[in-house]
Amino acid sequence: MIAEDFNREEVLRFLDRESAVARATQGRMAVLVLELRRVDRLQALLKGPPAAVTMTLVLERIRKVLRTDDRAASINDDEVCIVLPRLAHPTQAILAAVKVLRALDRPIAHEGGTAVLRPCIGIATVPEQGYDPAELLMAGDVARRIAATREEGYHVTQSEDTIESEVYRGMDLDLERAIRANELEVAYAPQVELSTGRPVAAEALVRWRHAQAGDLPADTIVGIAERTGLIGSLTVWALNAVLRHAATMKSAHGTPRFALNISTRILTDGELPTVVDQAMKTWGVDPGTITLEITESSMIGDAERSMAMLTRLKGIGVQLSIDDFGTGYSSLAYLKRFPLDELKIDRLFVAGLLTDNGDRQIVRSVINLAHNFDLRAVAEGVEAPSALEELRRLGCDVAQGFVVSPPLSEKAFRDWWARERPEG
Ligand code: C2E
Ligand code: CA
Ligand code: CA
Repeated sequence: MIAEDFNREEVLRFLDRESAVARATQGRMAVLVLELRRVDRLQALLKGPPAAVTMTLVLERIRKVLRTDDRAASINDDEVCIVLPRLAHPTQAILAAVKVLRALDRPIAHEGGTAVLRPCIGIATVPEQGYDPAELLMAGDVARRIAATREEGYHVTQSEDTIESEVYRGMDLDLERAIRANELEVAYAPQVELSTGRPVAAEALVRWRHAQAGDLPADTIVGIAERTGLIGSLTVWALNAVLRHAATMKSAHGTPRFALNISTRILTDGELPTVVDQAMKTWGVDPGTITLEITESSMIGDAERSMAMLTRLKGIGVQLSIDDFGTGYSSLAYLKRFPLDELKIDRLFVAGLLTDNGDRQIVRSVINLAHNFDLRAVAEGVEAPSALEELRRLGCDVAQGFVVSPPLSEKAFRDWWARERPEG
């Protein structure tokens, strides 16, 4: 869903109008003040795109994750105002902030260079902060300054911490409890080998149905986990859930490979390799059948440290994949140095494969690049049979997406595997 384009004056007028509506109807709404905070140290090295270009690309990403009724516009060089009208519950303002922050996690790449952002968001809620547009903006701005000092990257203005403790800590406790009570689930996105059409693997994707907020998208769950320090528990939970499943599927009809997403934030945790190694032994799973997907952006921080971590993981015997390849900081140097097995072409490019010549060239180049480095090329988000055919023609090794199958429950994946691969 894509929210409309707005400029500064329009978003302020929109805020005026919606706060009047909220007053008249005793409704809820929120104003988010976001500061981009470009990372200077890296920027000197990377030479980012011009500020105006960065802002345009930032707004594009933000609008993609907002509801159609929400509005976002830049209010100066490095600040964005986001208005979320008609909220059912204040939690939604926080969920929106988490989604926006996550959408800006990846560096902003442009032909003018790459900008790395450490955005922070101040949240002012109606009716808690009143209805006056100027005061709401000011409250959001104060909260934004506090947010800049917080690990989670956002802050809700409050008289006495009431909103945050009730709403957000609530969410955080819910997730912690859900992990402990085994209430999360894993969905499996099937993958097929393009040359033969045979099933070969599945990517594990976390799912959570929240009692009040309903089905939460994986991005939101991971965002909450990352910003509350629960990402370690979530990763360990997912790892064990997948390995337990993998152990039961051994040799039933040939063994599928399973891919697991590893958050950038957990990649710096020195304990990760030990945890992975122990889990493999506990469940008796061959590490060679497990692929860890790591996003490109996780390599930019500290290449030496990433290298050491990937080498330790590789030592356990697992396969390593670069997820969302092409969207992040593109350095070919690490393809040579890092012990990788797979490149995963981002679904953004796959979506444009048949209609956009630029996307087609990117897909083709990534496939060739992968093969030149002896890596497997995997396309994700394949939706049309014609795209599947084209990927096969381009020599892509493996495909995943709705045309293969939507993500399946554990049982449904097991049935799919037995049906599609009866010969073992
Ligand atoms: P991703 O790694 O890029 O995962 C692929 C996403 O594409 C999934 O969304 C999947 O449902 C969706 N998808 C699959 N086929 C198609 C298709 O044909 N078309 C379209 N448009 N989309 C398709 P999902 O499950 O919402 O996951 C979103 C992101 O959340 C994932 O992106 C991944 O980065 C993250 N994530 C999911 N599970 C986990 C987890 O257990 N741990 C961590 N750290 N991250 C996770
Ligand atoms: Ca992935
Ligand atoms: Ca991806």
